[in-house]
Amino acid sequence: MDKSDQNNKVNKQNSCMDDFDPDSLTVSNALNNIYAAITPISESEVVPIRESLNRVLTRDIVSSLNVPTATNSAMDGYALHGDTIPEQGTSKIKVVGTAFAGKPYQGQIGQGECIRIMTGAVIPDATDTVIIQEHVERTDDEILIDSETKPGSNVRQAGEDIAAGDNVLKKGARIRAADIGVIASLGIGEVEVTRKLRVAFFSTGDELSSIGEELKNGNIYDSNRYTLFGMLTELNVTIMDMGVIKDNREDLQQAFESASTQADVIITTGGVSVGEADYVKEILQETGTVNFWKVAMKPGRPLAFGQINNAHFFGLHGNPVSVMVTFSQFVKPALRHLMAETETDTFSMQVPCISELRKKPGRVEYQRGILERDENNQWVVKKTGAQGSGILRSMSQANCFIILPMDSSSVEPGTIVEVQPF
Ligand code: AMP
Ligand code: MG
Repeated sequence: MDKSDQNNKVNKQNSCMDDFDPDSLTVSNALNNIYAAITPISESEVVPIRESLNRVLTRDIVSSLNVPTATNSAMDGYALHGDTIPEQGTSKIKVVGTAFAGKPYQGQIGQGECIRIMTGAVIPDATDTVIIQEHVERTDDEILIDSETKPGSNVRQAGEDIAAGDNVLKKGARIRAADIGVIASLGIGEVEVTRKLRVAFFSTGDELSSIGEELKNGNIYDSNRYTLFGMLTELNVTIMDMGVIKDNREDLQQAFESASTQADVIITTGGVSVGEADYVKEILQETGTVNFWKVAMKPGRPLAFGQINNAHFFGLHGNPVSVMVTFSQFVKPALRHLMAETETDTFSMQVPCISELRKKPGRVEYQRGILERDENNQWVVKKTGAQGSGILRSMSQANCFIILPMDSSSVEPGTIVEVQPF
C-alpha cells in the first residue's frame, strides 16, 4: 500500500482547475514582460490618405493652414456690423447684396447696411455678425431687426477649427474616420504610417478538421483560425493563415521554421498545455527562446510567449474562448505596441451586474457579458449562459467581458463590476 492509499486520498498535482497557484504570473506582470520584450517597428511607408485608415502615424501632422481659411457665416441670414444692432427696440437695415459659400460679396457695405449671407460664405470685412434669417422680417430690400442678436454671433472665425502651426494628430495615433477627415481638411493626400505587420498563425491538433473535410473519429472543425482572422483583421495586419498542423514533430517543426522566416509575429493555438501529444513545447525549447507561463487568469492560464528567429511568438491554449480572451488581453495590446501605437490600453467601464456570478478567489476571470439598458435606461450587464472555456457561443452572444479581479469571490446581483466592451 502506498502513501496515498493509506490516507484514503489521491496525491494530486496542480492542474488548470485550481484557482490559486503560487507559481502563476499575474495578468499585468505577463503583459509587462511582453511589452518589455517588444521593440516597436521603425519601418514606415507613405500611403494614399484613404489607405491610412486604421494604420499608425509615424510623424505628427502639423497644419500649414487655417481651417477654415476665412471667417465665414455659421448660418443662413444677414451679415452686418455689430454696431448696427439696436440696444433696444427695432431697426430697419438696407440689404445691399448677397454672399454665397464659394462666392464672396465683392461690393461695398455702407454704415448701417447689411448683405444676405449663406452658411459657409466669407464674412465681408465691414461686418462681424450674422442675424439668422428666422429672426428678421424681410421686406423688398430691407430687414427689420431687434436687439436680440449679440454682436459677433453666428460667425466661424478663421482658424477656429485648426490654426496654422497646430499639431493636429500625434505620431503613434491610430488613424480613425475623423482623423482622415482632419487630414483631408489640411489638403494632405499622403500619410506616413508604420509598415503593415505580417502575422502568421496555425492551429495544432489531430482532432481538427478544416471546412470542407469530413468529420471523423469525433473530430471538430477548427474555429480558432477564424476567430483569429477576425480579430487580426480589425487590427489591419497582413494575415498568413497556415492552416491546421497535425500534432507531429516534423510538421510542427516545419511550420515554425516557415512562419518564423516570413512573419513578424506567429500565433498558434493548442498544444501549450501538458497533453501527451503536444510537441509545441519541445520544439520551441530547442528552436526559440520561449517562456511557458501559467497566468493567474481564467480562461487562458497556459500562455507561451517568446521569440523564434526574428518573430515574436504567442502560443495560446486551444480552447476557443481562451483564444479570444488571451488574444484580447495580451496579443492585441502587444501587436499595437509593435505597430508603434502609443495608446494600447483597452477601454473598460464600471456598471452594475444584474446576474449572480460564481467565482473563487485566486485568478482574474473574464466572464462573458451582455451590456444592455435596464427599464430606467441605465447600462447594466448580465452574464451569457454557460461560461465554459470551450463554449464559443458564450463569446458570440456576449458584447463585453466582465472582468472579476483576482481576489474577488462570487458576485451578488447589484454589484458594480468592470466590463470591457467589444
Ligand atoms: P489544447 O490546447 O491543444 O490542449 O486544446 C484544448 C481544447 O481546445 C481541446 O478540446 C481542443 O480540441 C480544442 N481546440 C484546440 N484547437 C482548436 C481549434 N483550432 N478550434 C476549435 N477547438 C480547438
Ligand atoms: Mg491539442
